[in-house]
Amino acid sequence: MMNFHIMTLFPEMVTDGLNTSILKRAIDKNLISIDAVQIRDYTLDKHNKVDDYTYGGGAGMLMQAQPVYDCAMDIQKKILEKGRNKSRVVFVTPRGFTFNQKMAQDFSKEEDLIFLCGHYEGIDERVLEEIVTDYVSIGDYVLTGGELPAMVMIDAISRLVPGVLNNSESSETESFSDGLLEYPQYTRPETWHDKTVPAILLSGHHANVEKWRLEQSLIQTQKFRPDMYEKWMELHPVVEKKKRRRKKKIPLDL
Ligand code: SAM
Repeated sequence: MMNFHIMTLFPEMVTDGLNTSILKRAIDKNLISIDAVQIRDYTLDKHNKVDDYTYGGGAGMLMQAQPVYDCAMDIQKKILEKGRNKSRVVFVTPRGFTFNQKMAQDFSKEEDLIFLCGHYEGIDERVLEEIVTDYVSIGDYVLTGGELPAMVMIDAISRLVPGVLNNSESSETESFSDGLLEYPQYTRPETWHDKTVPAILLSGHHANVEKWRLEQSLIQTQKFRPDMYEKWMELHPVVEKKKRRRKKKIPLDL
């Protein structure tokens, strides 16, 4: 079972967002748990304040160290009391490593994961130094808070927890699973808007279908992610050679 603990000033955003569809089924089957913890509940400020002005000036408020620290310590204590190991703490932040499928696979092996969601201008650096183990961004843009990034990561990680996806939803042949983007897919009807499903997919010839899918994956990856394409080609020099032959109209024999 994978236990997610989300430290946030907006717990309902996280619980409402994650309690649907496949993740709801996973929660109901006790494959994952989602515990959104209100950081404000830990403030010692008599007015319930959790933020203050930034030293050195600059626009916006910063989340203070004390409530964030006490919240994290309480979550870790509860995890230890249940006989489990101290959890990694993931701070979702634009200044972290960019999240990818490999990270999702790595995180999915943990029993507990604590996500720390910033808001306003961010969080006092001193508490980050003390509690954070991983700094992770979901991309090169800035959002108003860390709740959506945490939800994105939790969704991607949860689908890799054994049992969360059933066979028909398998993650094995998806984009990024083998370093390539996914091939195009089709469902009924066979013809729609005068567009017909590629004949090879109706042929029932499994090997040819696989060959077509790999070719299509290569085309998609070259077009949308040339960086991934180059990397894949370096690791598969035989295909590279055969692709060059294909350019000379020689059939690809993978
Ligand atoms: N001042 C921060 C900076 O320039 O890096 C941005 C703060 S942002 C307005 C508020 C919070 O949203 C951040 O502390 C972080 O938790 C979250 N956030 C915003 N964009 C994000 C991204 N691309 N990836 C992960 N978290 C993000």
